[in-house]
Amino acid sequence: MKALAKLKPIEGIWMTDVPMPEMGHNDLLIKIRKTAICGTDVHIYNWDDWSQNTIKVPLIAGHEYVGEVVDMGQEVRGFKVGDRVSGEGHITCGYCRNCRAGRTHLCRNTIGVGVNRDGAFAEYLVLPAFNAFKLPDNIPDDLAAIFDPFGNAVHTALSFDLVGEDVLITGAGPIGIMAAAVCRHVGARKIVVTDVNDYRLSLAKQMGATRTVNVMQEQLPDVMRELGMTEGFDVGLEMSGVPSAFTAMLNDMNHGGKIAMLGIPPAHMNVDWTKVIFKGLHIKGIYGREMFETWYKMAALIQSGLDLTPMITHHFPVDDFQQGFDVMRSGQSGKVILTWT
Ligand code: NAD
Ligand code: ZN
Repeated sequence: MKALAKLKPIEGIWMTDVPMPEMGHNDLLIKIRKTAICGTDVHIYNWDDWSQNTIKVPLIAGHEYVGEVVDMGQEVRGFKVGDRVSGEGHITCGYCRNCRAGRTHLCRNTIGVGVNRDGAFAEYLVLPAFNAFKLPDNIPDDLAAIFDPFGNAVHTALSFDLVGEDVLITGAGPIGIMAAAVCRHVGARKIVVTDVNDYRLSLAKQMGATRTVNVMQEQLPDVMRELGMTEGFDVGLEMSGVPSAFTAMLNDMNHGGKIAMLGIPPAHMNVDWTKVIFKGLHIKGIYGREMFETWYKMAALIQSGLDLTPMITHHFPVDDFQQGFDVMRSGQSGKVILTWT
């Protein structure tokens, strides 16, 4: 079968021909229809420090996808051939304390599809049936293909009560933009989104931000004054991984504010802990999506009218994957979809 893989420990990704993956008793065989390019795939493409330390070549990349069940192992229950699915990319151990307690998103032995084992940039993917999510019919393929990053946005945004709250989102990458849309949909009051990229900030505005701030051009405290915010943000969603963005967030949170951190900062980030202490802040780290509470919430958000379609800015047939990676690396895009069928 055709697959898009990291074949060599240098910059790039290559189309290759590989044997069909083997299916176990508890697995589904999924025929991939569409995939989306994640920031992680771009890291793998770029062969940056993280990739060099994490990725073993050869590896089929990709973990954002929608496809159709074409076969299943003999122990699988709850699915049938023809089901349209996406899937949770964190494969968990099932035996650690958290897994056994049903908190699988906190498994300490997580293996990532398209990171630690072959992924979805292929004609077929084998996935444990436990990880698959059957999609309601009224969710289009394009949106289903981005459920993985949408899940990061939903898990982070819904960590705290948002109704009537003022929210600061630092980082208008695809996940930050989707988080802004979720905050708007569920009833946040003011939603301020920061970035350094005007293309992405305009997308954030279109998706529900009250005000966007290019921090290269404007100061957040000035914008807060303009919006009549005298006390600070109630909820902060850190979605950039950039230390200066987190510093700004700590400075501009209200006392008792709540912060969820998704963005991955460099290994050593200086933090002014006195801000955390004297403001009485709550900080929560976010990894992945809750299995499968986040997935049900995603489906329900879309079914109740949340419109994510403006997020999908580019489509390419998979043979034009290079164009897809180029536009994703340029920063001048929302989500980029590669079509396999
Ligand atoms: P992304 O890299 O596309 O988005 C990050 C954004 O931050 C970019 O638009 C960038 O321009 C912006 N930025 C740069 N400097 C900034 C500044 N000073 N202030 C505000 N914004 C600034 O990434 P994404 O795919 O949207 O993911 C967001 C973050 O979440 C990344 O750090 C990613 O690595 C991380 N992530 C974490 C998990 C998890 O499970 N914890 C999962 C997926 C992604
Ligand atoms: Zn576990």
